[in-house]
Amino acid sequence: MELVEESPYRFRIDRHDPMRVPGLVFASRSLLPDTRADRSLEQVANVATLPGIVGASYAMPDVHWGYGFPIGGVAATDVEAGGVVSPGGVGFDISCGVRLLTADLHRDELRPRLDAVMDALSAATPRGMGRGAVWHLTGRDELDAVLRGGSRYAVERGFGVERDLHRCEDYGAVHDADPAQVSERAIERGARQVGSLGSGNHFLEVQAVEQVYDEPVAEAFGLRAGQVCVMIHCGSRGLGHQICTDYVRAMEKVMGRHGIHVPDRQLACAPVGSHEGRAYLGAMAAAANYARANRQLLAHAAGQIFERETGRRLDLVYDISHNLAKIEDHAVDGGTRRLCVHRKGATRALPPGHPDLPDELRAAGQPVLIPGSMGTGSYVLTGVAGAPAFASTCHGAGRVQSRKQAVAAGHGADPRAQLEAQDIAVRGASRRGLAEEMPAAYKDVSAVVEAAEGAGLCRKVARLVPLGVVKG
Ligand code: 5GP
Ligand code: MN
Ligand code: MN
Repeated sequence: MELVEESPYRFRIDRHDPMRVPGLVFASRSLLPDTRADRSLEQVANVATLPGIVGASYAMPDVHWGYGFPIGGVAATDVEAGGVVSPGGVGFDISCGVRLLTADLHRDELRPRLDAVMDALSAATPRGMGRGAVWHLTGRDELDAVLRGGSRYAVERGFGVERDLHRCEDYGAVHDADPAQVSERAIERGARQVGSLGSGNHFLEVQAVEQVYDEPVAEAFGLRAGQVCVMIHCGSRGLGHQICTDYVRAMEKVMGRHGIHVPDRQLACAPVGSHEGRAYLGAMAAAANYARANRQLLAHAAGQIFERETGRRLDLVYDISHNLAKIEDHAVDGGTRRLCVHRKGATRALPPGHPDLPDELRAAGQPVLIPGSMGTGSYVLTGVAGAPAFASTCHGAGRVQSRKQAVAAGHGADPRAQLEAQDIAVRGASRRGLAEEMPAAYKDVSAVVEAAEGAGLCRKVARLVPLGVVKG
């Protein structure tokens, strides 16, 4: 793979047949994937062949290998010019994302209560493979309400307050969800999991603000040095996974009929306006609402524990997905075009002044939430005007070791002891689960964020450090 260095944080893969646009990789030289071990740059080039793709096939600094599309990939297609939507460009955990909450509490005040808080959070957070959930839905009707209403439905049912919705992407629910496009199998898998973390990489973490880089923006987000926060990372569980599986299969079958040829079957796709394209987007939106309700319920449960154990409320800073395709208007070649923007392991980052932001965040820009690892730290960023990748940035540190490699690299050391030696309280994960998720399994989140900022994708606002983690 030939990479042309355009600037310290920007590398180009020149267009060659059958690519329709170039590839653009935003990373420092040291963050570039090792092409012997990770084929994500080839995937960047493959994505560039999709019908209707506009601008470039983009990779964020946390890019790594994924199903069809790389994780950390962004691709936009022109809806009115035969642009396609691809389930692999969203990923299996549809609308997986992050929610950040703050408490009016300094980390020193929490210290004597931290163990009790962690025990209670651990008890109140269903997690692991398919084990329990906050809600037990009685049937399809109630699940349909979740699939249509997302966080809004959870708030209507008393699991949160109206203000929360102003701090959620899409005010808590995507409009065009179509539960009729969701298979029975997906419904079955989802019905028992509303309000559950899932496993592995998903977590609920108690954090503290370690450093503030931009005081006015941090203040607008409700963040100050030393403050206690809660970060929740989870998605659409078995429901989203099944929807992705169903639609990859369905699109594989009809691609030929639409005259579409892709270099990798995992890039199965269909025109946005086709029957299959619309059906997928309707089902995807339903899964997105499921994921938002999921985060709303887990945050509500965490909030009750904070009130009980510390007497302080949790207030939502923002809730944002990092696996989603959205129909958005963007300026392209001097005009405005309707695009289907795929962000897979990439976060939307709206700049200050954007009309989709709530009034109280408009001057500051959108809070962008970047988990790093349970042993290092996480970041809060904001969007910047004129960013190059359709208002998108990274979504995390990004994996560098497979789960298996991470376990082997630990050489049998006790991961819990290692974390506790750093004063990080750990709850509820198996030894193997923790070993798979140790900081060494991920890139250096600070380097990733520096590259994202250097590439002009976003700006740093604050750095958060972990105090305790409930691991999925
Ligand atoms: P993904 O959505 O790709 O599974 O994960 C997003 C990012 O979350 C990963 O790239 C990694 O940097 C970060 N991450 C995974 N586990 C943890 C954790 O326990 N705590 C924090 N703060 N970040 C994590
Ligand atoms: Mn996920
Ligand atoms: Mn995720």
